[in-house]
This record gives sequence, structure tokens and C-alpha cells, in this order.
Amino acid sequence: MGSLLGGEHVPGTHWDRFGKYNAIALERADGAILAIRAHAGELVPGSTEDLLDFLKACNGRHPVAPFTLELDPTYACSSVSCGGACFSAAYRSLRPKAQISEEAAEAAIRAFAHNGGRVVRFDGGGDPLMHEGVRSGRLVVKANELGLRTTILTSGDLLHRSSWEAIIDSDCYLRVSLNAATTPTRREIHGNKVDMAKLWAVLARISQYAMKVSGPPVGATFLLTAMNYHEVAEAARMARDAGIRHFSVRRVLGPDQLRPQFTTTDLETLPELLADARGMSNDDFVVFTPFREVNEPDLSPQSGQIAASSCWQSTFKTVMEPADQDSKVRVQLCGRYRGDGVGQVTQLPAIATSAEPSSWVSDWRNSFHAYPHSRPSLLRKCTSCIDRGFIEFMEALIEFTEMGSRAVNAEHFYIAPQDLGRLRGGLTLRSGRPST
Ligand code: SF4
Repeated sequence: MGSLLGGEHVPGTHWDRFGKYNAIALERADGAILAIRAHAGELVPGSTEDLLDFLKACNGRHPVAPFTLELDPTYACSSVSCGGACFSAAYRSLRPKAQISEEAAEAAIRAFAHNGGRVVRFDGGGDPLMHEGVRSGRLVVKANELGLRTTILTSGDLLHRSSWEAIIDSDCYLRVSLNAATTPTRREIHGNKVDMAKLWAVLARISQYAMKVSGPPVGATFLLTAMNYHEVAEAARMARDAGIRHFSVRRVLGPDQLRPQFTTTDLETLPELLADARGMSNDDFVVFTPFREVNEPDLSPQSGQIAASSCWQSTFKTVMEPADQDSKVRVQLCGRYRGDGVGQVTQLPAIATSAEPSSWVSDWRNSFHAYPHSRPSLLRKCTSCIDRGFIEFMEALIEFTEMGSRAVNAEHFYIAPQDLGRLRGGLTLRSGRPST
């Protein structure tokens, strides 16, 4: 397949490959080969193999459970503002405390696993480590015992008080929002009193431990704002030296009021800093930098900027967040609509507002018929979306596999970035044999 694509084959497990491939070639039993632009980042911590396996189980029908559950166990966060750049900024000043009880979260995870779900992302909304069930590692261990892949996306502010050894031992991918190299900048952005030196120290201990026990890599993100962008290269250097394996620089996405205002000087200075950070990439440290301008608006499905027949994001993933009682959960279409009930604006209604945690998957499944907006119609309804990569990736994959009813083998490749554009929508490298 590699010679047809003209790329370099990237072998190994999903962690070996992480960040090192940008194209996937799929071969069907009839000999057809399709190349798709890869979407490695969004499958974290799942792998292509997990996704293909899940799709195969769909066998031509809608999934009976999402592939990924983004579980926001609490609205509480140890950061106060994140420079106004967090999507929870609109309601952060309200200091929301609602959470899903540990019992309800466990019931929800169990139902997810029993219905064939694969990946739990402990996410927010708030900081998942503010939830005792996550901080203690108990929910992570449970999810792992149920055969799920897990990740925790956290500010890291409470890592030193977490059972991080148990979390790493459960093969959970920790991804920490650094957003600064130094304490003054971190404090200015996050609005709390966290000492960066302490955060770097605990990250180094966790990374060393993960390496010692051959556990999952530890990752970090850096959200670019006008307050912190000047520290991005230094943060990458310190992350590398702390043993962090992945450093992902992110643009702030969302509505205009959340967008940081960069000056002309900022915009002129930033490319060199990002190039410096990228230059630190090696076999053990992968750096991702944005290929879009930092001030470019979100893509709009309504304006036809996403080439797909349906919103595959909300077909394969969902967000669960706290409802009005600890024992209940609220299920949302996607991350764009999290924050329901605590002041977030631009809402579509929740898929289920008070589902029993043990039966939420059937509510989610019913939403294919009962929700007021069909998944295809969301591409005419939503005015901004951050998931074009996944949606277009899935469009090609679903068409080629006929929603999993045709088996495929996948190989991963790296091709020259200037050639990636020809893969948009999928590039047929070889047609299938006609059936006799
Ligand atoms: S914003 Fe709309 S189109 Fe985009 S993932 Fe969410 S529901 Fe789908």
C-alpha cells in the first residue's frame, strides 16, 4: 500500500505510532485501497484498531453505544478563569459544584462497557481530578477492569494529591494542561496559586514511574493566549526534560468572546516560537503545533465547511455531565454543548436530561430517532464546530467500509504535508474487483 501512496510506513503499536503518521491506507477484501488523512489526535487514547473493531461490530447499522464517552464527572475546577479562554469561562465565575456521584458514574461506565463502548475520557466542564472517584483512581481502575481505554484531561493542579500510581498502573493516559512555563504566567492564566515548580516536579515523577512500569506515555497541552504564548517554546523544553512524551499546542476554539486578542506583534512573534517548539521533536518527544492561524474562527457546518453527510462526531462520541441531582446524568451531543444548565450559551437541547445512569445508553440510542435534530441535519444547524477532522475522517471510513459491514486492513503512513490535501474526502488508490 505504501508504494501506491508514496509515503513512509509507520509500524508499531498505537503509542509507538502516536503523532508520527498522517495518513491511513485501508485495504478491502475486494482489493480496493483507500487513503485517508489520519486523525490521530482525536482518537486519544483509542487506536485505529479499536475504531475499526468497533465499526465492524456496527455491521452496517448505527452504533448501539458511542465509541467514546467524554465523562465530565464534576463542574468544579481548581482553576478560576484560564484567562477567560476555557469554554467553561462563561459559567466559571458561578463556581459551579454539581457533580455526578461516584456510584452514578460507575453505573454509567458499566452500562457503557456492557453496550460495547471503548473509550472513557474523564474530561470537563470542570477538572476531573476535583472528583474523588477519579482522583483516587477508583473509577479509572473500574473502567480498565471493564476493558475500556481511559484518559484523564486535567489542569494537573491536584495531581500531587491524586493516586497517580494507580492511575498509571491502570494504563490511563494522563494529559495535563500546562499553559505556561513559569509560575507567574500560570497563575495569571489559571487564576489560582499553583506553583509551577511543584507541577513540573510531580510530572517528572509520574513520567519516570510510567517509564519504569512500561505504562502509557504522559502528555501535555498548551492553550495559546496573548498572556502565555511567549512561554510556549520554554514550556515545550521543560516538558521534554520532565519526561513528558507528547506536547500539543492548541488554539482557543469557540465563540468570539472566548477568543484571545493577539496583537500584530504577537502574531509576528508566534511562528518562530512554534518552530522552536516543533524543532524539539524526536523519537521520544512529539510536538504538535496548529496548522491554522490562532485567530481563525471555528469552522461552520451551517456554512458548508464540513464535507460530510452526517455529524459522525455525535454518532460515535457523546458527552456526559452532571444533572441537577448527584444520582442523575445529562447526555449531550458533543463538547460544543456541554455546560447545559450552568450558564453556557448557544445551546441545543441535551440528548437526555435526567437519564438513569444505568440506562443512559438506551436514551442515547433512542436519540437517533427521538431527538429533535437528526444527526445529518446537525450539519445544517450548528454554526460552529471544532471536529471537522473527525467528521470527515469518519465519512470516508464509513463509506468505504459500508458502516463496518466490509472488513478492512489498515496501515499507517507519513506523507509529505504538502500532499495531504489530495487525501481530503479519501483518495482511491486502487478500485475493487467487480463481483462476478
Ligand atoms: S457542533 Fe454540531 S456538527 Fe459539530 S460535532 Fe457538535 S453536534 Fe456535530
